[in-house]
Order: sequence, then C-alpha cells, then structure tokens
Amino acid sequence: MELSQLQPDMERLNRGAMKLGVGLNPGQIEQFSIYYQELVDWNKRVNLTAITDYEEVQIKHFLDSLTVILALKPPPADFHLIDVGSGAGLPGIPLKILRPEIKLVLLEATAKKAAFLGHLKQRLGLDNVTIVVGRAEEVAHLGEYRERFEVVLSRAVAPLPTLIELTLPFCTIGGSFIAQKKGDVDREIERATKAISTLGGNLREVKRIDLEEFSDQRQLIIIDKISVTPHQYPRRPGVPAKRPLVSNEAVH
Ligand code: SAM
Repeated sequence: MELSQLQPDMERLNRGAMKLGVGLNPGQIEQFSIYYQELVDWNKRVNLTAITDYEEVQIKHFLDSLTVILALKPPPADFHLIDVGSGAGLPGIPLKILRPEIKLVLLEATAKKAAFLGHLKQRLGLDNVTIVVGRAEEVAHLGEYRERFEVVLSRAVAPLPTLIELTLPFCTIGGSFIAQKKGDVDREIERATKAISTLGGNLREVKRIDLEEFSDQRQLIIIDKISVTPHQYPRRPGVPAKRPLVSNEAVH
C-alpha cells in the first residue's frame, strides 16, 4: 500500500482540532468528508462558498468553525444553539458534528442555501437540527425563538453593531453571543458599545485564536446577555444594517 493511502482523511482538520483539545473520531471524520463532498457538489448550482479546495475548506471553514469551542469551556451538557445567517452551515454544522448533543437551529434568509442545509442534515444523519428560512429581524420576534438560546453564533454576516441587533434578541439571559472576527477588532467593538448595552449585553472577553493554521489574526468576541432585549429590537428587515446602533463617540 502506498503511503498516501495510509493518510487519514481530513488530516489537517484533525491535527488542528487536536490543538483545540478536541480530537475527532473516525465517525466524525467521515461526516466531515461527506460535508466537504456535498458542499463542493452543491456549490456548482448554489452559491455557497468561494473556498472549495480540500485543504483550504478543512482550515478556513471547518477548523475555523470549531474554534468556537474555546469559548464554550466548560461546555454545558446539552444546550440550545442558534447560528444566525448560517449559509452553508458554518459554524453550526461543524460544532454539531463535534458535539452531537447540541440542540441546533440554523437560521438562513436564502431558501436555496436552506435547502442545502436540509439535504446536509439528512446526509449526515443529524438529530435535533432545525432549519429556519427567514430573516433574523423577523424570526427574533417569534416567541419560539426569542431569548431561547444559551449560545448564539454568527460568522461573516455583518459588522458588529448590526450583528448585535440581529443576534442578542435570540439569547437567554445568562447565555452568550460569540462573534468570530478577523483582524483588528478594537474599533469594531468600540462602535458596537451602544448596540451591546441597548440590546441587553455585556462584553465579557475577546479571545485570540493562536493557531499556526491561520495566517491572519482571528478572535472570538464573547458577549454575555445580562438583561432583557427591549421589544422593539431587532428593527424591521434591513434597518439594523442601514441604521446601525453605533456609539456616538465612535461615529467619526
Ligand atoms: N455563516 C456562513 C459562513 O460563515 O460561511 C455564511 C456567511 S454569508 C457571507 C452570510 C449569510 O447570512 C448569507 O447566507 C445570508 O443569506 C445570511 N444572512 C444575511 N443577513 C441575514 C439576516 N438578516 N437573517 C438571516 N440570514 C441572513
């Protein structure tokens, strides 16, 4: 047998996951392999991702999603998690593969992307995954979803002031919103101060991701939900992006 045939699948992902303290078992590696194949296949018809290279997907999509685990320590036993603007399932699905006990909701505004998520759920044999097609501005006003999630995630959806309005309404008091951000985040956080306090949040921590797998600077912004979100938030679809709740002192 050639050496290359002995290489396990998803090797770069598995090596990175071990550095996060979470090695993957063969069943999980198989699920990530299926995820990769389905992503690339559906991407021919639905615009899901610009990243399709096998090595790159392992790091930039799958491992990047798993870094959220660093903000979940010690992880609650089974918790409700919503991924707002999930797109191709990132970061929600990689976390669900890692921690099957999570009760996961994937919220996505685009029906075609949501159809991919439904297909993927079935292909991966995932239980306790609900796919919701809709906009956060509307879904966050439904009793079934408002202030129901111990953990709220969102990757690559909007700048922080807008994102806070789209995500914190979903979060239970005592729960947290974890934003994945690249580059220098100080300015973005400064601009989001007003949104964080208005929506009932409190900035707990900015956690740097120190993994050589990532060439750029990545961090997790962890915001705790400490009080009820006023009922008028989020505002109508599009308003949080058009007129973000930006702190006065950060306008210029
Ligand atoms: N989170 C995924 C990732 O990191 O690869 C997808 C990122 S993609 C750039 C942003 C996604 O958020 C799109 O699929 C878009 O349809 C969705 N989205 C944007 N605004 C939204 C909103 N207000 N409510 C729900 N989904 C939204």
